[in-house]
Amino acid sequence: RDDKNMVITPPVVTIMGHVDHGKTSLLDVIRKTKVAAGEAGGITQHIGAYQVEVNDKKITFLDTPGHEAFTAMRARGAQVAHVAIIVVAADDGVMPQTREAIDHARAAKMPIIIALNKIDRPNANPDRVKQQLVENDVLIEEYGGDIICVPISAKKGEGIDELLDYILLVAELQDLKANPNLPATGVIIEAKLEKSSGPSATVLVQQGTLKMGDNIVVGPISGKVRAMFNDRGKRVQKAPPSTPVSIMGLPEVPQAGDHLEVLEDEKTARQQAQKELEQRRGETNNLGQVSLDTLYTQMQEGTVKELNVVLKSDVQGSAEAIKGSLSKLGEENLKVRLIREGIGNVSETDVHLAAASGAIVIAFNVKPDGAALREAQKEGVDIRYYNIIYKLIDDIQAALTGMLE
Ligand code: GDP
Ligand code: MG
Repeated sequence: RDDKNMVITPPVVTIMGHVDHGKTSLLDVIRKTKVAAGEAGGITQHIGAYQVEVNDKKITFLDTPGHEAFTAMRARGAQVAHVAIIVVAADDGVMPQTREAIDHARAAKMPIIIALNKIDRPNANPDRVKQQLVENDVLIEEYGGDIICVPISAKKGEGIDELLDYILLVAELQDLKANPNLPATGVIIEAKLEKSSGPSATVLVQQGTLKMGDNIVVGPISGKVRAMFNDRGKRVQKAPPSTPVSIMGLPEVPQAGDHLEVLEDEKTARQQAQKELEQRRGETNNLGQVSLDTLYTQMQEGTVKELNVVLKSDVQGSAEAIKGSLSKLGEENLKVRLIREGIGNVSETDVHLAAASGAIVIAFNVKPDGAALREAQKEGVDIRYYNIIYKLIDDIQAALTGMLE
């Protein structure tokens, strides 16, 4: 670490909590009230994160409420947020997903701030909720602990300024620093296939500065930053640490949680991507073998059967819905195992992974590219196309039943 080049960077905040406790409302009210003057009324773009300014200091919010996205990223080893806001509705109290959110924040070693929401509700009972928090080992200040609990109403916009002040305070204690002079590293927080312009990915820059024309490698994919947009949809030339930007110039849609790195030239970037691809293939081979061995033993014992699936779909919403349904299929001893999922067309990488682990590929509203199709034919990988979720689920259920026979 070169100390003289280090500057303070904005905290990255994730909002988690039980369903309907007000995560989306809170993200909306912060964004609406804190969009910099002059830019108010400007069209905000959903890119998976946004930045606001409070007392000349910036705060970055991950705009994917719920902890699924966050957990998925963490599962891939990506440490994205510095502070966790846990929203608890004052009229409903600590619920199962509240506890999960607390567990996730703790596992990620992030400081927690409790946003006690819906205090405007007539049946709000802040004292009861605080007690519940303490019972769940969340030691808030009033009870002698050090966790801040801020009463708010996302609906009426009350307590929002206090909450933002506390975020800055907690961030200050963490002493978040980065060197903007280095080549950028970052993490993908969202990615999709644009109908007209191809793959786009939101990068949260973590160290260094990402610039137009940079040669980048994202997991097994290499490319070049050909266009870059901020959370207002405005074209930008560079992105310093903690800034979310949507970029174009990758030939494929990467996965959320993949790391981004800038390399000195195209060739090096390509080589590194190739290395990553081989490593992932190797891992899948090993996994495949392990699971086949295990599967074999268990089959001998008559315990478990699994249907391996690679799922590619056009948007995150469908992916979540399909995953939810797939997880309910089968029985205790007969399950669907999702070995890879992603947004965008079926790529050669997907087919390789499927081949290595005896999986089928489900393409929901997407197609394979030419190379993927050739590879699938060569490797005998079954790609199934769907545009209706229940048909997909019916088929997979049938396949599972077939495995039983
Ligand atoms: P999420 O599922 O956690 O994202 O929750 P939402 O933000 O979608 O909110 C769920 C419901 O609670 C919606 O009908 C909101 O209008 C309502 N809501 C959210 N915040 C407040 C609040 O501060 N006060 C009241 N009265 N209602 C709220
Ligand atoms: Mg919501």
